[in-house]
Formats: sequence, structure tokens, C-alpha cells
Amino acid sequence: MEIGQRFTRLVITSIDKKKCNCVCDCGNEIKKYISDVIKGNHKSCGCLGRQRLKEHREKHFLTGSPTYNSWENMTNRCNTNSVQHKNSIDSYKNVTICEQWKGRGGFQIFYNEMGDRPEGKTLDRIDNELGYFKENCRWATKQEQQNNRRVCKKYQFRGSLQTIAEIMKVTNLSYMIVWHRLNKGKSW
Ligand SMILES: [Zn+2]
Repeated sequence: MEIGQRFTRLVITSIDKKKCNCVCDCGNEIKKYISDVIKGNHKSCGCLGRQRLKEHREKHFLTGSPTYNSWENMTNRCNTNSVQHKNSIDSYKNVTICEQWKGRGGFQIFYNEMGDRPEGKTLDRIDNELGYFKENCRWATKQEQQNNRRVCKKYQFRGSLQTIAEIMKVTNLSYMIVWHRLNKGKSW
């Protein structure tokens, strides 16, 4: 063991015989037996366990809430890096979810941006060639979603009509920039 060495969230700040002082990523300072730290018995000051418990509780409390279900379904459908992938639907294999909506804390941001799921509506992507992110998502009825699939809005771009997804492919620009330029009527 040496000063500066990291054990999950703990970084060693000083060593005193059998014990060591550590600073946790959360800012707490603790003193533990060196042997315990090396064995991996302490991964944090205790905040890691509390965080997991909080996440577990949140999941428990939120399961069954319509908005949480939508978020969870979206996550499961598009999951490409876990065991759930084998259950994911083929047509969703290449559909991305924006970073903020993923993983820890992802639901809270999703909820802040999308709000409560209204009754009778589900999560819909406005442009189906694009992934899940705030500007491309809305709560919509089955009928609204079908109408949407028939008509994907096209824009005047370099002399022809194209969808935002098509323009993104050609220009290599993000959705936000393409959308902004189209709405400002800028030339390409
Ligand atoms: Zn901590």
C-alpha cells in the first residue's frame, strides 16, 4: 500500500502502523485497518452502500409508475451492453439513448425533461431514425405515432427535401445544430 493509491472510492492519504487514513470521493475522511482495505472490505466511507440502498429504494418505490416504466422499457429495449441485450428488439439495436438519460440518476433527468406520462400515451421518437433525447421525444397516442410514421418532416437542404436524420448523416452535425440552422433558415 502506498500514499495516493486508490481502492474504489478511497484514496490513501497517510499510513500509520496497521492503519491508514483515507479520503473518500465524497469528501469524508476515515481511518481503517490496512489489511481490510487491501482485502477490499472497505470500498468507501460507507457512502457507496448508502447510495446503493437509495437506488434500490427508488427503484422499488418507482416501479409501477407510468413514467418510470417508460424509462425502464426504453432502457431495456436499447440496452446493448448487458445480458438484457439478448432480449432487446432487433429494430432497436442501433437506437441510442442520450448519456444524461442513462444509468445512475438517468431516470431523474428523464423525468425532469419529459414530465409525467399522460394517460393513454407512450414514449415516442419524433424522428424514428434518431435516438432517444429530449428534443426528439414526446408522449404520444398510438394514433399520433402512426401519423408520425407516415409523414416524417422534410426540409429544404442543398436543393432537395430531406429529413433531419438525412441531413445529420451528410453534414455530420448533431441534431441540435441541424435543427437550429433549419429553424433559423440558415443556408448550408
Ligand atoms: Zn464516502
